[in-house]
Amino acid sequence: MRVDVLGVAFDNMTLTEAADRAMALLDETGPHLAVTPNPEIVQRAAKDPEFARILAGADLVIPDGIGVIYAAKILGRPLKERVPGIDFASALMDRMARTGRRLYLLGAAPGVAERAAEHLRTAHPGLVICGSHDGYFQEDGPVAADIRDKGAEVVFVCLGFPKQEKWIAANGAATGAKLLIGLGGSLDVFAGEVERAPESFQRLGLEWLYRLIKQPARIGRMAKLPLFLVSAAGERLRGK
Ligand code: UDP
Repeated sequence: MRVDVLGVAFDNMTLTEAADRAMALLDETGPHLAVTPNPEIVQRAAKDPEFARILAGADLVIPDGIGVIYAAKILGRPLKERVPGIDFASALMDRMARTGRRLYLLGAAPGVAERAAEHLRTAHPGLVICGSHDGYFQEDGPVAADIRDKGAEVVFVCLGFPKQEKWIAANGAATGAKLLIGLGGSLDVFAGEVERAPESFQRLGLEWLYRLIKQPARIGRMAKLPLFLVSAAGERLRGK
């Protein structure tokens, strides 16, 4: 059963359950879409009906970001746990490495996906990364064709939201892949371009604070977060 948080319905799953479900989707007729909404994405969906429809039709909707977990709690429908997109991707790659499934990396600046691929092959021995492409292309067709030609089963689509989800909705079928996952800035992290918060910050649910310290320009984007929790409290009070 899904849990509605301010208009986006989330799967109530642990990290392990989400990664197992993703693997199961590889044995079903595709394409499947997995999304990892954080509060910014939920807020965007409230203003963009096309984006909201795509999220509602996704096969896996994973709560990325402590703000979603807090909002669910305020709404009185707590989710099992926060599942950061990066951790979900890593758990999935462990399983893919064990079973020889083929992964394609799409997105980020030229060269980043290749560097990410090198690091990921070391971190997940046996992982098959069958191809990659940067995220600054003009035409979708040749990129989808390349994914198909490489025989990719899973694609990490890292173009930032809502571009990545809309790209998957429009081009997923043409790629022939079974599962396409919108993963934002993950390739930058995997490539070592952007540092992830130390574990102490992650454990405390303060990854957002670390990101803000490292990239202060994000303050405008993050300033909307308290409003997100206020909206959840408002909905609760109205008895929704
Ligand atoms: N990006 C891309 N193509 C574009 C726009 C963005 O490949 O047309 C990439 C960008 O280089 C970055 C990622 O998408 O690697 C977005 O990262 P951000 O951390 O802003 O995404 P979020 O996780 O907040 O969605």
